[in-house]
Amino acid sequence: MQFRNFKMVSYVVYGRGSFNQLDEILAPQRKGDAPMVFLIDHFFENKPLVNRVPLRGKDKIIFADVTFEPKTKQVDALAQQLKDEFGTISGIIGIGGGSTMDLAKAVSLMMTNPGSSADYQGWDLVKLPGVYKAGIPTLSGTGAEVSRTTVLTGPTRKLGMNSDFTPFDQIVLDPELTKDAPVNQRFYTGMDCYIHCIESLEGTYLNEFSKSYGEKALQLCQEVFLEKDIWNDSCDDKLMMASYAGGMSIAYSQVGVAHAVSYGLSYLLGTKHGIGNCIVMNHLEEYYPKGVEEFKKMVDKNKIDIPQGICKGLSDEQFETMMNVSLGMKPLWENALGKDWEKIMTKDKLRALYEKL
Ligand code: NAD
Ligand code: ZN
Repeated sequence: MQFRNFKMVSYVVYGRGSFNQLDEILAPQRKGDAPMVFLIDHFFENKPLVNRVPLRGKDKIIFADVTFEPKTKQVDALAQQLKDEFGTISGIIGIGGGSTMDLAKAVSLMMTNPGSSADYQGWDLVKLPGVYKAGIPTLSGTGAEVSRTTVLTGPTRKLGMNSDFTPFDQIVLDPELTKDAPVNQRFYTGMDCYIHCIESLEGTYLNEFSKSYGEKALQLCQEVFLEKDIWNDSCDDKLMMASYAGGMSIAYSQVGVAHAVSYGLSYLLGTKHGIGNCIVMNHLEEYYPKGVEEFKKMVDKNKIDIPQGICKGLSDEQFETMMNVSLGMKPLWENALGKDWEKIMTKDKLRALYEKL
């Protein structure tokens, strides 16, 4: 038995207003006059948060267009732009949801590793540490702030750059930053965390490490999405910690059926991660009976619409593409269904599931 020896985020600060410590946190990371680059979710363009970014010298703000999930082409272009303009940079700080944080991680790695980010989609292909990178979530749920991956859509696949060089050097968890998230988006991204918990806790890879974090994250999700009638600051505080703990839970286990099926949707139809997981989870009673029942209660309580019928009218070829992407996620299926998963999740069965969505 070989146990995973995993690299974690090096520094964590948590608390309302902790964003104000950013200048102090970055000071020792500055290398001569090489700038810090702040990659900020485009939602914050012209918003007060931008005026709080501690710009020094040649520092630069770039607004990240996250209309679509990050692509390898977008990462390569950003890294090239920074190399052309500055040669080298002191670091990159991603401020936003999972998409912006993933972009920041990937650009950091591509400032030092040769070629295209598409060359590194997979496990442990990244050879060199990137430049200093920090992550500051403005949405809670993905766990991208703690994970060792950055999910990218490339020319041939949607797959992360999974490596020990991928985790952030620093994260700043300031729940104040999630205050203005729209109700639907907050729910979809929050459910990403809830689904991480269910998939981890119900999976065959579960161990006490994953369970400890998963149970805590699950409890926090229940508190904010089931027990509270009105959203308040403490919900933002809790959901940010749920995201962190949910991410830690899957670091030592794996996600499962909802993610494996949702990856197919996202590859073919561009369905975004959070909402795609919700669309799939809605139909997974067979695999996660208790989790799906509770998920449906959360949907009702928070008055959220989960899209239906998104696979209507797709061709056989399109179903085939989705199924191939999904079945390619072997560790997810193995975690969910055990070593004999291929006998359980046959193509017919998967096709029937996609047809329900
Ligand atoms: P997101 O980053 O895609 O953002 C969704 C929307 O919310 C965007 O329109 C954005 O502009 C907006 N937004 C962000 N913060 C806001 C705020 N405070 N107020 C108002 N609007 C705000 O959403 P997400 O669900 O956080 O991230 C999904 C992405 O994360 C996907 O690309 C997925 O692949 C990735 N992901 C990565 C990991 C990982 O481990 N690296 C894990 C899960 C998901
Ligand atoms: Zn997820």
